[in-house]
Amino acid sequence: MTEHTLTVAGVAVDTRHWIGGERVASAETFTDVSPIDGSVLGEISRGTAAEADLAVAAAKAAFPAWAATSRAERARILHAVADGVEKRIEDLAIVETTDNGALLRSHRRGVMPRVAHNFRFFADWLLKLDHEDFETRGHTNHVSWDPAGPSVLITPWNAPLMLSTWKVAPALAAGNTVVLKPAEWTPLTASLLADIAAEAGLPAGVLNIVQGYGSEIGDALTSHPDVRRISFTGSVPTAQRITQSAAANLTPLSLELGGKSPLLVFADADLDLAVDLAVEQYDNAGQVCLAATRILVEETVAEEFTRRFAEKAAAIVQGDPRDEATDIGPNIHERQLEKIDGFVRRAVDAGARAVIGGHCGEGRYYAPTLLTDVAQDSEIVQEEVFGPVLTLQTFTTEDEAVQLANDTRFGLAATLATGDRDRAARVTQRLVAGTVWVNCFFVRDLQAPFGGSRHSGVGREGGTWSFDFYCDLKNTVTAPKGWKDHG
Ligand code: NAD
Repeated sequence: MTEHTLTVAGVAVDTRHWIGGERVASAETFTDVSPIDGSVLGEISRGTAAEADLAVAAAKAAFPAWAATSRAERARILHAVADGVEKRIEDLAIVETTDNGALLRSHRRGVMPRVAHNFRFFADWLLKLDHEDFETRGHTNHVSWDPAGPSVLITPWNAPLMLSTWKVAPALAAGNTVVLKPAEWTPLTASLLADIAAEAGLPAGVLNIVQGYGSEIGDALTSHPDVRRISFTGSVPTAQRITQSAAANLTPLSLELGGKSPLLVFADADLDLAVDLAVEQYDNAGQVCLAATRILVEETVAEEFTRRFAEKAAAIVQGDPRDEATDIGPNIHERQLEKIDGFVRRAVDAGARAVIGGHCGEGRYYAPTLLTDVAQDSEIVQEEVFGPVLTLQTFTTEDEAVQLANDTRFGLAATLATGDRDRAARVTQRLVAGTVWVNCFFVRDLQAPFGGSRHSGVGREGGTWSFDFYCDLKNTVTAPKGWKDHG
């Protein structure tokens, strides 16, 4: 233990940056607070442009050797990182829950195993990454995935380690070195990842982690001329800022942003399933980019749907996320609560009716809320709330359902509840969304392309698409033996 260690439920977490294989402290710190009870967890090194430069320099220095490391060896080390994650699932789960307020049981059984899977999946995918050679007038074309270089990865607080490793794993597998900047509200599990990666034998400088406020350290990272890739998950305004900053060096960007996704419930749907899908949107206190926050229900079943929804939602248990019985934990921060409540207040002032909720609960909890009588062009229908707030609108035809579903500036995901497969195919084809779920929600496979259209993002990651992004693709054309070009 040093003055730079904090403990969460007995788990020691280093509060310093991780740069070039060493812990580095900043002169300034920021305070990390638990959303569960507002308790102070500790003081975290607060990075500035100086630490950003140091981290990028470390990533640059480590790049040639890591890029030259065989695929098999890179894969072996990434599997060793996955082993380390699996050994520390309990530690990671309690630290993440304490830092961001999401359910301990989800972290334990779903999220942290998935973090390990992120490393295993991209290690294995790397080993089978190939493109068949092809011929052009007797010449052979060979496509290779060359590591691109130091990559800056910037992530949000709603699923900190899951979203960070979904970028870190493919970037490292591709042969890139990384500077990760976790969200300032939830920096702790990234620090544990540094320990795990070091123990797994990841060479110094291959993974660097700098902490701090995006407004203070972000530009120095995203405008750095030695950075070859930037992958960002977060809000649209930050993405716009990063895009401007990256423009100086034309640094390629992958942007995974917000959403205002629809859940379309047709009269031919299994209504119990549709209600389950709708209530599931309150998971993680609504702090899920993919959440289907706009429920669109066919008019003939709207009344029955609403009745069953209210009944089911009334059974939701809100409380301490460490408690097994809890369904929804707190929202992340007072600022977020104020934002959520502001959206709801303005919607109600504009004529919306709260079927359930519509107000703050105790502490950092917001009551699960369903608003009806909302206009399509209203703020509550058009803007991402990022809290447990859903709207309900009705439609009478399939055309109208599609029109309402597509009528926002986002295009991240869409969910359909219907018993008619032909309808599902027809509607899916017309929806603007990176992912469409039919009679299910949140089923995600790492080999699928993931991302959003319009303001929900730029580019896709997942499977081969991740390697396309993190690599410089090269085509080498080789002439046949004895070939001479006679013009
Ligand atoms: P945010 O944009 O405020 O912050 C995200 C990250 O960007 C943080 O690490 C922050 O420090 C950093 N940042 C802030 N200013 C920066 C700057 N100028 N330069 C560089 N980095 C900067 O977003 P948030 O509030 O943390 O996250 C919520 C948003 O993330 C929501 O809109 C949500 O929909 C979105 N999200 C999207 C996905 C997806 O996969 N599409 C997943 C999760 C969350």
